[in-house]
Amino acid sequence: MAHIINKEKCIGCGSCEAECPVGAISADEDGKYVIDADKCIDCGACASVCPVEAPEPKED
Ligand code: SF4
Ligand code: SF4
Repeated sequence: MAHIINKEKCIGCGSCEAECPVGAISADEDGKYVIDADKCIDCGACASVCPVEAPEPKED
């Protein structure tokens, strides 16, 4: 399980990257942010700080 960022919503503010305890989030080429599912521990911190609710839990 991991969180995934909905790029349609992401405004590229970077708050989630600063908050992620395991460094799973980084800026993508398009200026939006992406989560490395291999690093994500599903803590939900990114979702709680995001102003536009772009990070979402993902079943996989
Ligand atoms: S759920 Fe937690 S570990 Fe996963 S990307 Fe968000 S802040 Fe990082
Ligand atoms: S906090 Fe939300 S809007 Fe900001 S970069 Fe992360 S996903 Fe995008």
